[in-house]
Amino acid sequence: MRTASMRNGSLRALALDGVDRLEAGDPELFSLLEREYLRQQDTLAMIASSSLADVSVLACESTPASNVTTEGYPGRRYHAGCAVIDDIERLAIARAKELFGADYANVQPHSGTGANQIVMTALLRPGDTVLGLRLDAGGHLTHGATASFSGTYFTGIGYGLDEHGFIDYAEVAELARTHRPTLIICGASAYPRLIDFERFRAIADEVGAYLLADISHIAGLVVGGRHPSPVRVAHFTTTSTYKQLFGPRGGLILMGPDANAPSPGRGKTLAGMLQHGAFPYFQGTPRINTIAAKARAFAMAATPQFRDLTGRIQDDAAALAAALQRCGWAIRTGGTDNHIVLVDVAARGLTGAIAERAAESCGIVVNRNKLDRDGYSALVTGGVRLGTNSLAARGMGVREMAECAALTDQVWSATEPISETEYHLDPEIRSEAEQAVLSLCKRFPLPAELFG
Ligand SMILES: *Cc1c(COP(=O)(O)O)cnc(C)c1O
Repeated sequence: MRTASMRNGSLRALALDGVDRLEAGDPELFSLLEREYLRQQDTLAMIASSSLADVSVLACESTPASNVTTEGYPGRRYHAGCAVIDDIERLAIARAKELFGADYANVQPHSGTGANQIVMTALLRPGDTVLGLRLDAGGHLTHGATASFSGTYFTGIGYGLDEHGFIDYAEVAELARTHRPTLIICGASAYPRLIDFERFRAIADEVGAYLLADISHIAGLVVGGRHPSPVRVAHFTTTSTYKQLFGPRGGLILMGPDANAPSPGRGKTLAGMLQHGAFPYFQGTPRINTIAAKARAFAMAATPQFRDLTGRIQDDAAALAAALQRCGWAIRTGGTDNHIVLVDVAARGLTGAIAERAAESCGIVVNRNKLDRDGYSALVTGGVRLGTNSLAARGMGVREMAECAALTDQVWSATEPISETEYHLDPEIRSEAEQAVLSLCKRFPLPAELFG
């Protein structure tokens, strides 16, 4: 057996040592981590906000770049010893700008929520008005919801959806004229259709507001050319890096030509305002290992194989929606333009909570999701949100979506509600479905390498 001292000095050896040492020294934790890995292999992840990171992305996260504590930006740190990590951050910034066609990128946000907080706290004064998609219509907590900082430090006004489930742009314009927000936010966590960023910018310009496009969910489709890009349309674009970019947990802020516009009353450009907004205003030390992992994910996202993957994600979602519809499940908006399928399970007498639990008992991992005007609490809900990022990354195509839909239909059709959260599912049907899920997972193993 190789020993730690034999391997000393090499990054590769260090990673292997780490796994060995964890297994030998902390079997309890090691077995939990291993069980979680096995769970992911043997279940169908249809959580729309998740994906899976390539092993090389995971490897960046576990390097000793993590040991560096510093503050500031490349070339302007507050500590010595930063020459190499400066190059890592510069590389991540250059790749982000190239990938999105951006004039400015900040790779330091620790999360998507953090990216939004940085933009909002840098740009706004407490009490300023923010206009965003309502939480119960598919918006995100950070878009002005009262459960979040965004709706308590700022005045959140919410726009909603029309009766077909599409963004009501007329309402956005009307609310903008009435409330004169300082910031309009577009983007969503549970919205299956294209977002018209140009239309949002026109409304923002009309009322003198800034526009923030939060593409946390659809960033992959944007770089793959499957969804219009807001980067040169909105003043600010934010995204999580672990959802459709298949990167590490983290956030990213981008700007187009407005990077050079003056910031409100502070004698800086908007880009300069954001630099200060991330550090020192909102965050402290950057996570260098995570920034390295972002750089790796951005490089992978720039490849033709990633473009193919985003195409499969989108085609799979359309196929999944159509197949469920054929089985008699009501799909909000009648379909999807992105990776999200919103199923109105209440229309068939289930609740989101029951549908989620019944599916999970068979290895189908989904999340309950409030649907606009569904009348249920956020914990119960009348809907389920499905997403195809992870299934497509396992190589599943349109044919397998028919299988996934059939399995889901089989389980939900046999699920008998007892209360809003309790249900009965015939054990034979449950175990049949579980076996079918397992065999589908074996046919399409969880890839360590995202592609080639
Ligand atoms: C997930 C999400 C975020 C938050 O990202 P975290 O990294 O989880 O903080 C922000 N905005 C939208 C629209 C999201 O869906």
